[in-house]
Amino acid sequence: MVGMLAAMPPPAPRFAQPDDARFRARGDACPGALRLHRADDGALARVRVPGGVLTWDQADGLRELAGRLGDGELYLTSRGNVQLRGLGAECGGELASRMHEMGLLPSERHERVRNVVASPLSGLDGLGAGDVRPWPTALDALLCASEEAARLSGRFLFALDDGRGDVDALGADVTLRARDDGEAELRIGALESVARIGADEAPRAALLAATVFLEAAGGSGAWRVTDLPDAGASLFDEVVRRLRAAGLPVALGTVPVPGGAPPALGVVTGPGDTDALSVGLPLGRADAVRWQALTDLARDHGAGGLRLTPWRGVVVPGVRRDRAPGALDALEAAGLVTGDRSPWTGVSACVGRPGCAKSRADVRGDAAAALPVAPRADALPVHWSGCERRCGHPRGEWVDVVAGPDGGYRVSVVRDGGRAGEPERVTGDPAAPAAAVATARTSRT
Ligand code: SF4
Repeated sequence: MVGMLAAMPPPAPRFAQPDDARFRARGDACPGALRLHRADDGALARVRVPGGVLTWDQADGLRELAGRLGDGELYLTSRGNVQLRGLGAECGGELASRMHEMGLLPSERHERVRNVVASPLSGLDGLGAGDVRPWPTALDALLCASEEAARLSGRFLFALDDGRGDVDALGADVTLRARDDGEAELRIGALESVARIGADEAPRAALLAATVFLEAAGGSGAWRVTDLPDAGASLFDEVVRRLRAAGLPVALGTVPVPGGAPPALGVVTGPGDTDALSVGLPLGRADAVRWQALTDLARDHGAGGLRLTPWRGVVVPGVRRDRAPGALDALEAAGLVTGDRSPWTGVSACVGRPGCAKSRADVRGDAAAALPVAPRADALPVHWSGCERRCGHPRGEWVDVVAGPDGGYRVSVVRDGGRAGEPERVTGDPAAPAAAVATARTSRT
């Protein structure tokens, strides 16, 4: 289908122009497994994991690589990818070789563009409108086979939602959402307009949308749909036109972007005879002990793999029902977050000092020092940042804690994409930010 679409006349030139002042002059510096980023704590590699799906061999191989070449820890990103940090400057060749062996680098030219998140509990809990587990594999294969797709930026994101609205809320550039009538909705950016297509054609339609985006971006340097002058409205019209020109039935509709929520933590009971375990990683990091607790469970009791979530968590599917409670206790004992009673639930932070030269503070240490004594299940998520870039911040409603130039923090609530009131400036020992953060996290309207 995409080949047929490529032969169609070019779209009307209503897209970004190269001299649009809003676009970046510099190149896309997003790191990958081959293009390492030089950080203050050594080189950083980001390994794309489409759909968050890791086999046991891959998960165990990453643990071994992190211990031998890096700082020993695995870092999950807000796109369900994995980062290795503290790598030596000379390890690039070995890293690439091992990634190939583990099947984590199917195409060197596409390694940074395989940003695909999917509903982590799809097919496991009986919720959702359809099982989207085949979609990440299909879309990844299409991406890696597309010459055009190799030109996407390392920030372009696909979201594959099973109908529950979790990853549809993440602001992806192209979203597919399953419907219970066997069709799928295609969304561009944060537009409420959606195109309904057959579910079997959905991955191809997502690739088409991405390649039309590249035409729309032209030489402007736009990395994402939100960089386009009309936030993707013209792009949507053009994608619909090309889908119809290719002979596909397309119906139009309007579906608001959902609020979204991460998967609940704990034992996930589904319609089958096995359960899944859903856990979080404190600040998105796992040392060898925590990671091995997960991989051992996956090997011994689960269905053999892990699903990484865009909320820096991990789902282990296929755990025998009679063993699930004990297995969850074992993960909690290893330091993983297994429920709302954990003070780590909803707490995230950028890397901060000493890993990032821009950071004004050791935000991970300060976040740990400010953990709530009495966690509340209804508390807002909180994100600690070492500077105003706020790397990895959550979406929706959340508490923003940013290190200021005076040694203190600015604490505010972000709601509907804007700040709800003036930031509170807090300085002093960890007790001061802790009190302000606790108040802000319980200020939900
Ligand atoms: S938010 Fe600032 S300090 Fe934190 S990782 Fe990003 S650039 Fe570095």
